[in-house]
Amino acid sequence: MISVAEALAAILARSAPLAPIEVDFQDALGMVLAADIVSREDLPTSPRSAVDGYAVRALPGPDSLRVLGELTAGQVSTMTVEPGTALRIMTGGLLPPGAEAVVMVEDTSEQDGVVEIKRGIGAGDNVQPTGLDLRQGQTVLTAGQRLGSADIGMLASVGQTRVPVYPRPRVAVLATGDELVEPDQDPPEGSLRDSSRFALIAAAREAGGEIVWQGSGRDDRAVLEGLVREALKGVDVLITSGGVSMGTRDLIKPILAELGDVQFGRIAFKPGKPLTFVTAGRALIFGLPGYPVSSLVTFEIFVRPALLQLQGLRRVLRPRVEVELQHAVQPDRSRLEYQRAVVTWENGRLVAASTGIQSSSRLASMVGANGLLEVEPGDTPLAAGSRLPALITGDLLD
Ligand code: AMP
Ligand code: MG
Repeated sequence: MISVAEALAAILARSAPLAPIEVDFQDALGMVLAADIVSREDLPTSPRSAVDGYAVRALPGPDSLRVLGELTAGQVSTMTVEPGTALRIMTGGLLPPGAEAVVMVEDTSEQDGVVEIKRGIGAGDNVQPTGLDLRQGQTVLTAGQRLGSADIGMLASVGQTRVPVYPRPRVAVLATGDELVEPDQDPPEGSLRDSSRFALIAAAREAGGEIVWQGSGRDDRAVLEGLVREALKGVDVLITSGGVSMGTRDLIKPILAELGDVQFGRIAFKPGKPLTFVTAGRALIFGLPGYPVSSLVTFEIFVRPALLQLQGLRRVLRPRVEVELQHAVQPDRSRLEYQRAVVTWENGRLVAASTGIQSSSRLASMVGANGLLEVEPGDTPLAAGSRLPALITGDLLD
């Protein structure tokens, strides 16, 4: 059995970013940038007014000035502001020749072509200088970052309408088990609805993957081998659930061993000891255990970082923080265990409450969880009030 850290290192060492593609900037939301984006010009390109008011020479104190006319955003002035004169200007208007500052309209009153300026103003006041927002040659977005709404706006403002990004990894999900029925069926005695497949599909999508194949198969060597071969066609990642433990119907490991190179097949990890990682050509194959909780937690800890790194993300791990336990926790004797919890911010510290019985079959222990407690192996229970590390996997609540 290898450790969680060794397993993760082995996976990430084989998850090199996919070859970049180019997309329209409006389709780039949520994708990862494959090259730095540099501004080709200063922004603003010349000084602009930050407010509605009057463009003037600097004034030591109150004054009254002759109004030359009006300048709105987008217009270029043909008039020059001389001492004793002012030009009415709107927010975003280009500072006219001769002007040194803009007096806010609130500090003025205008009558019969003359404006009273109620207080003095220094050069540069209420003016956005050239390059305030961006300098020419400045890196505005960095390769390896996921593009959010502000970034899409930035691409628009620098005129970068075609964007180099990493493609979404193509993912196949295969559930295995004689006992599985489809979610719209009523399971006969001894069977249950396939939930792991759908949770894994959703998790892979959340992590930026594109599902290109999905299916399920019964525990039959020929059937499963056929499905694995089919699922592997043209994918970057294949995720299977079930059939990797020690039971007589656990057929996935030998099938994967025949089709690729097994990197590891057992880890000191709870829930998910039988996690199997295989490489087949350029494809990564993750054999996850079938229990819904085991499959989702192993996905979270091992598959998600791989999917993120394939997309070129530089930071692929969840934030790891210290939390205070609200109740006692019993560690596993020999394996690092990830327990599901609700983490909240209370009186200046993060506290964690368990989601209840941590059985691998109990999907309800994942519902509503936003954290995974990292419980080191041992014999002694951790008392309420102890502090331990946790991964923040969802929205932090207060
Ligand atoms: P396995 O990992 O194949 O030994 O499966 C262990 C247990 O997980 C099975 O007995 C089922 O109760 C459950 N299980 C396996 N696959 C699924 C699935 N796709 N959806 C829901 N439960 C599953
Ligand atoms: Mg099974």
